[in-house]
Amino acid sequence: MSYKLLSRVTNCFTLNFKGMSKVLIIGVGGVGTVVCHKVAQNANIFTDIVIASRTKAKCDAVAAVLKERYGVSVTTDKVDADYTDQIVALFKKHKPELVINVALPYQDLNIMDACLECGVNYLDTANYEPKDEAHFEYSWQWAYKDKFEKAGLTAILGCGFDPGVSGIYTAYAAKHHFKEMQYLDIVDCNAGNHHKAFATNFNPEINIREITQKGRYYQDGKWVETGALEIHKALTYPNIGPRESYLMYHEELESLVKNFPTIKRARFWMTFGQEYLTHLRVIQNIGMARIDEVEYNGVKIVPLQFLKAVLPNPQDLGENYEGETSIGCRIRGIGKDGKPLTYYVYNNCSHQEAFKETGMQGVSYTTGVPAMIGAMMFCTGQWKRPGVWNVEDFDPDPFMEQLSKQGLPWHEIMNEDLEVD
Ligand code: NDP
Repeated sequence: MSYKLLSRVTNCFTLNFKGMSKVLIIGVGGVGTVVCHKVAQNANIFTDIVIASRTKAKCDAVAAVLKERYGVSVTTDKVDADYTDQIVALFKKHKPELVINVALPYQDLNIMDACLECGVNYLDTANYEPKDEAHFEYSWQWAYKDKFEKAGLTAILGCGFDPGVSGIYTAYAAKHHFKEMQYLDIVDCNAGNHHKAFATNFNPEINIREITQKGRYYQDGKWVETGALEIHKALTYPNIGPRESYLMYHEELESLVKNFPTIKRARFWMTFGQEYLTHLRVIQNIGMARIDEVEYNGVKIVPLQFLKAVLPNPQDLGENYEGETSIGCRIRGIGKDGKPLTYYVYNNCSHQEAFKETGMQGVSYTTGVPAMIGAMMFCTGQWKRPGVWNVEDFDPDPFMEQLSKQGLPWHEIMNEDLEVD
């Protein structure tokens, strides 16, 4: 990991906040590293910071950078979050108010169980997935709602960019612009180039599991299933131009159609280059995307986990990454004035700028910044409500204000062609 270029001005905002907040971050991969930087940049709110992961040396390396860069001292520790008793011991030792879970989705329920046992509030960026089944739904985590409510604890689910900012954009549109939202299309473009033949932008195992599953979208009260990446079309992204975009299932669709019942159709689109898709097809055809165990030389291995070990580490992509991401929501419906309205709200994020600030590329950055803002919303009392919640359950306004201050400015376009009829 390289921290050579440090030119982005740190945006340390100050809320009139006089409290003390102890946060514990689990996971220091690409996303976790960005969270650590952003939390340290806002040390007036996060007065006590603990970083823990499976490999403590990685936590120590990030801690050294935070000390040098921001003069902030953090505590580091080791935890294997596959074991609830280890998380409980970690919580008892450090007594955090909030845990920011940026490990892998497999650990979500273990960490939530430990939160209930120790009275710790919870935030994550990806919904729970069982290891042996690439299956995305909130039911497992929503089932904790009563327990968190009774314990007086807040759990904030899916607080990255998508899920995360996509839900906050939708809530903001509903609050300020629409009388009735009818059509929602979340559009996610990565127009960056990392100069590798094939690499994923976040954890390869989680990423490939997500992309190779069947597509699904919501229409007139029902879910419609499609083949994996079967439906695609060119969409035009600001400052980027047209890019082939593929319809996929994405977890926030589940909570958004529930929370905004006027939505008639909700879809999610993501761009992929031809080179990426060709590699992905080969990986699948030769069985390397399998998530079941196979025997190799007397050892049981999961092919996709082995593949992760030989692919480029997403954390090392930043230095040569050019270009930008553009993620947003395209929404059509009836405006507050009773007239038809189309609305596009989006952020563009430069991979190089993200790297200069945090040593990580844009995909980690666009996930880690919202996770920190969600933690800030909790610690400042603006998003504190016992129960288990998706981000759109809270007031989007203070979050939107912070997005602009913390490195992810957003833009709105009204009444233009959304290209998603
Ligand atoms: P990485 O693989 O880069 O990092 C994962 C981190 O979690 C590593 O530090 C790893 O430790 C640690 N970890 C893994 N297993 C355990 C465990 N059992 N106990 C403790 N620590 C563990 O992943 P990313 O940073 O790319 O992604 C992190 C999360 O962010 C994922 O859940 C991903 O789905 C989510 N995400 C969400 C997005 C959104 O927009 N909402 C977008 C992108 C990602 P070690 O290094 O020792 O293996």
